[in-house]
Amino acid sequence: MVQSSVLGFPRMGVNRDLKKATEAYWGGKISRDDLVAEGKRLRLAHWKIQKDAGVDIIPSNDFAFYDQVLDHIQLFNAIPERYSKHGLDSLDEYFAMGRGHQKDGVDVPSLEMVKWFDSNYHYVKPTLQDNQEFKLAADPKPVREFLEAKEAGIITRPVILGPVSFLALGKADRNQTVDPISLLEKLLPVYVELLEKLKAAGAETVQIDEPVLVFDLRKEVKDAFKPAYAKLSGDKLPKLLLATYFGDIVHNIDVLADTQSLYGIHVDLVRNPEQLETVIGALGSEQVFSAGVVNGRNIWKTNFQKAIETVETAIQKLGKDRVIVATSSSLLHVPHTLDSEKKLDSEVRDWFSFAVQKTSEVAIIAKAVTEGPASVREALEANAKSVQARASSKRTNNEAVKKRQSEITPELHSRKSAFPERYAQQKEHLKLPLFPTTTIGSFPQTSEIRVQRNKFTKGDITAEQYEKFIEKEIEEVIKIQDELDLDVYVHGEPERNDMVQYFGERLDGYVFTTHAWVQSYGSRCVRPPIIVGDISRPAPMSVKESKFAASVSKKPMKGMLTGPITCLRWSFPRDDVHQSVQAQQLALALRDEVVDLEAGGIYVIQVDEPALREGLPLRAGRERENYLSWAVDSFKLSTAGVKDSTQIHSHFCYSEFQDFFHAIAALDADVLSIENSKSDAKLLQVFVDKEYPRHIGPGVYDIHSPRVPSEQEIKDRIEEMLQYLKPEQLWINPDCGLKTRQWKETKAALTNMVNAAKFFRAKH
Ligand code: GLN
Ligand code: ZN
Repeated sequence: MVQSSVLGFPRMGVNRDLKKATEAYWGGKISRDDLVAEGKRLRLAHWKIQKDAGVDIIPSNDFAFYDQVLDHIQLFNAIPERYSKHGLDSLDEYFAMGRGHQKDGVDVPSLEMVKWFDSNYHYVKPTLQDNQEFKLAADPKPVREFLEAKEAGIITRPVILGPVSFLALGKADRNQTVDPISLLEKLLPVYVELLEKLKAAGAETVQIDEPVLVFDLRKEVKDAFKPAYAKLSGDKLPKLLLATYFGDIVHNIDVLADTQSLYGIHVDLVRNPEQLETVIGALGSEQVFSAGVVNGRNIWKTNFQKAIETVETAIQKLGKDRVIVATSSSLLHVPHTLDSEKKLDSEVRDWFSFAVQKTSEVAIIAKAVTEGPASVREALEANAKSVQARASSKRTNNEAVKKRQSEITPELHSRKSAFPERYAQQKEHLKLPLFPTTTIGSFPQTSEIRVQRNKFTKGDITAEQYEKFIEKEIEEVIKIQDELDLDVYVHGEPERNDMVQYFGERLDGYVFTTHAWVQSYGSRCVRPPIIVGDISRPAPMSVKESKFAASVSKKPMKGMLTGPITCLRWSFPRDDVHQSVQAQQLALALRDEVVDLEAGGIYVIQVDEPALREGLPLRAGRERENYLSWAVDSFKLSTAGVKDSTQIHSHFCYSEFQDFFHAIAALDADVLSIENSKSDAKLLQVFVDKEYPRHIGPGVYDIHSPRVPSEQEIKDRIEEMLQYLKPEQLWINPDCGLKTRQWKETKAALTNMVNAAKFFRAKH
């Protein structure tokens, strides 16, 4: 029989319960035991959902209080000494690595957090020492959670991150030089020990994730697979199903061929259906094939007919017992359940499927191929009907948008003059000092803001009352910026629930949800809007707030928009037209907004593109260049409509640009603000090597943590940056927006930042 399986289930719960509990714990409002109990409640609830849906293979250890990679850091005791030396309780030590800790005399910033492949999920980077040792934690979490499920009558398949990926996704700690993969020999015994314990606890099969197989791998990493997996087999160990996702593994298939110790291989057939043949061809005579046919990354209903055809192809080659129907990846990246959406219009609602619904989908597909289509006839018919309805719906087509797209010329992508001429005009116009200080856009989203927004959404206050409230908030943040003596102001984004959702709600072609949250990092969740059809802007989206802010401010006001690629990437995109088409439609809408802002007296405009890099196809080559070309074009199309004297900023939440620097340069933004405080100033070298002529604000402090950087720390950071950048080039700003922070630490940190900038201004 063909089994159904889920690779991982979202952790937050139906009402973001986990977020609420962890934040309450951090705020001292609930105890550690309360938090632990809530975790347990959620795990049980999620296992039960999958069991009730008829899923045969249910994952465990997919839960995490903060991040699954961080779980492994603790599991293997790969904890840098700066966290372990304080004797913190293990949960607090865990959170200290995830989000920093500043309490009772302990003051330590978090470990680096980066995007998980090309998703909007962030993982904590394993941070390793030259003399790194590993040791299995005393009460290993995967074993504990397996037993917990077993006790509830559910035999699960534990999920662990494989040793090669764990190391390859890690890095040497600051001032360390170790190549993480060289630690493999030391790490493997810990995996053996863990796997033995899982087997002893009753786990027959373990899902071992090796997603790095979708990358182009360095030889050292690629060569690590065979010997590693040769060691991870034996009678005392469970069978291993090696899982990959978000790409194809054809270019690395040789490392899996003849790896008889593996029980099976999972691949993502939503992203790369064409890899089916090659991967099946490489399987040993008994190995199992797990076919990822239900999309773990998007919210569209699975096309049953197509999925069944794919699975049937595999069955013809392997037989029913060697094929598993699975989600393409963990469902971590999709919202919990469609049932929570009470306001979605019924036409589009019928096109969607969230995590809970997807668990049923795998079960239905497995049943269809095991027992024949007649066994699930009704489900198949309903599915065919909604697939058909979506394909032919009027909602997806807007002729005016298509016409405008057909009329785009190359000239629309370029500013009038080159940077030196623009800069001369901007200098004259904006009168900024050396080392100008600014922030990235948002200020703390206080509970007051959320309360008022909720009231407005519920209709408890009128639009006019809400607008007055927003204006008051804007006035307040301007007063604060006066006091801080910043140079380029922002309005603080109090009206924005989220940087993409806010715009999505104001664009035609989008629908938005009320409960469709997905985890972004730690307790932070986002609610991506959904692109269902051609996009257009019925009316200005941000002009009113920015204009108001400018009218009460004595310094230049920076308008704040989310760029086309970020709007696209942080939405659930359509899967029926190419993403470049959707990006171009977004760019046209934003272009109109940029021009309207300028006409409204806003002469500094920041178009955020933090998602540009995560959209990079995971492998280098033609596909990547293609992407960069349409991504850069869409940014330029959105920003090039302004005068030379208007300054275009863009923002990125990272600083690793080496792989695609040409694209960053091609954006032709006058000023770039980038993350830099959590990474290495050395990364700025690329701007030097490529003689980047324009201006840059590398973040001087980390905003993901409540920790307040000292003035000296910031000065040291700026000093380091000046080893790479000319004083005229350097802007002083935090790493990113401040929406997740409290005011207290924000004011303290910005005071130190402005003082540090003034120090250098006096010096130069
Ligand atoms: N302007 C946005 C903010 O300040 C940018 C956020 C981001 O880059 N993720 O919140
Ligand atoms: Zn950012």
